[in-house]
Amino acid sequence: MNKILIVEDNEMNRDMLSRRLQRKGFDTKMAINGEEALSLTRQYRPDIILMDMSLPIIDGWEATRFLKKQEETKNIPIVGLSAHAREIDVIRGKKAGCDAYETKPVDLDSLINTIKTLL
Ligand SMILES: [Mg+2]
Repeated sequence: MNKILIVEDNEMNRDMLSRRLQRKGFDTKMAINGEEALSLTRQYRPDIILMDMSLPIIDGWEATRFLKKQEETKNIPIVGLSAHAREIDVIRGKKAGCDAYETKPVDLDSLINTIKTLL
């Protein structure tokens, strides 16, 4: 079973996304901020990370940059999630190291397609 780490500070978004992905057959864990994302990535060893960009403590850009610099985590695909859909935001996400970028509210079919492409 593929493991997905969902990093999202909004409880409703986080729980809904987790439930929908579990229903699609994924194993999920949730982190509520960038700091927790870093420690859970080490413990849980996800196959893919869904990273909200606006997060407390350590934001999604910084957490992504950090994970992509570490030898043991740099190959884990990261999908940036953000309500900002402007081209400049997508470029900023990719520059931080996001392998893909999905806008919120999340389109589940599009997200699943992206996840399958990256796994
Ligand atoms: Mg957020």
